[in-house]
Amino acid sequence: MSEQVLVVNSGSSSIKYQLIDMASEQALATGIVERIGLEVGRAKHEGLDGETVLERHVADHEEGMAIVLSLFAEHGPQIDESRLVAVGHRIVQGGSVFAGPALVDETVQQQIADLSPLAPLHNPAHVAGLTAARHAFPNTPHVAVFDTSFHQTMPPAAYTYAIDRDLADRYAIRRYGAHGTSHKFVSRHTAELLGKDPAEVNVIVLHLGNGASASAVQGGRCIDTSMGLTPLAGLVMGSRSGDIDPAVLFHLSREAGMTTDDLDNLLNRRSGMLGLSGHTDMRDVHDAVAAGDERARTALEVYYHRLRTYVGAYYAHLGHVDAIAFTAGIGENDDIVRENSMAGLEHLGIVLDLERNAGRKKTDTLISTDDSPVKVFVVPTNEELEIARESVALVTASQD
Ligand code: ADP
Repeated sequence: MSEQVLVVNSGSSSIKYQLIDMASEQALATGIVERIGLEVGRAKHEGLDGETVLERHVADHEEGMAIVLSLFAEHGPQIDESRLVAVGHRIVQGGSVFAGPALVDETVQQQIADLSPLAPLHNPAHVAGLTAARHAFPNTPHVAVFDTSFHQTMPPAAYTYAIDRDLADRYAIRRYGAHGTSHKFVSRHTAELLGKDPAEVNVIVLHLGNGASASAVQGGRCIDTSMGLTPLAGLVMGSRSGDIDPAVLFHLSREAGMTTDDLDNLLNRRSGMLGLSGHTDMRDVHDAVAAGDERARTALEVYYHRLRTYVGAYYAHLGHVDAIAFTAGIGENDDIVRENSMAGLEHLGIVLDLERNAGRKKTDTLISTDDSPVKVFVVPTNEELEIARESVALVTASQD
């Protein structure tokens, strides 16, 4: 009988889940419980008998997880605990503590809680989700898979900020990166597409979703990434600014009287494409450009410029680049962004084939010309599958 993994991603007011069959590596069921703690909660489960939607108050993550169990029981597939190898949990921040996945016990759960100052919105929610899931599946190993782990191989030169060392040490301030599970999955898969071992290839991964990050992967190891202490740094995103001169904050604080919370809200929720164009979703930005909106056009130029800056920097650090991989919502679907962000990089050996690039890509696709020295791919990411694979590998290794 084929093994299964339940992958859980708990947010502050939601629990997303997938039951993955490890033989086929396909999702048998997916779902979400959202609006936890609000007046009316909502659950959506896609299982054997199609989609089920439920609306009712969901007090907390314990109740949310109980609903997940009942949805599986009522609408299938049945979760057979003897086939369930692991429950794999996505954890945003593992700090310098977790360079790989960890079997969850009280100590690990406490370490995740202790890292909350570095991810105040995420880690407390993960702990609530872990507690509820461990109650729901007391006899199954739970594995924590961290968004930051893949980036732990960065050298100090890449992760150290040029500020007072003692202060940085005291408050654990350094670059941790994010989206690591995706960067790992995509970079390895890109090596497979090249017919090579990950240890033999250098890849630049461009994870472009609402949140966006780039990474430089040398021989399978991350040597630099664009997100920083938090997922605010780096590329222009849907509503996040990415890189900005920190003095802008002093200036706005002094001149506009903005508080720390105002500034946090500005850079995390009202900047990026939203701040520049009034639209978060890239499709809306393109529509605005088509309608002649100059701000939207400039917003895209800023987006492309920043992306090229990172490609150039990582090219310099890697020395030799075998491939560039586009992934996530924009990377997979937006041929305009792919074309324009790579335009002008032919002198670096990056030559797109515009016919191959055209359209949305649901599967791995080569979008560079046959003689482009750097191969460019679209590689759909699958963070849930990567979490499931890592969970099985860890549980299997721990039983040997
Ligand atoms: P996240 O997981 O970070 O929330 P996603 O990876 O789902 O984000 O990406 C979401 C973004 O992908 C949307 O905001 C939208 O801009 C973009 N996107 C999705 N589908 C398309 C499409 N068909 N064409 C262009 N952009 C798209």
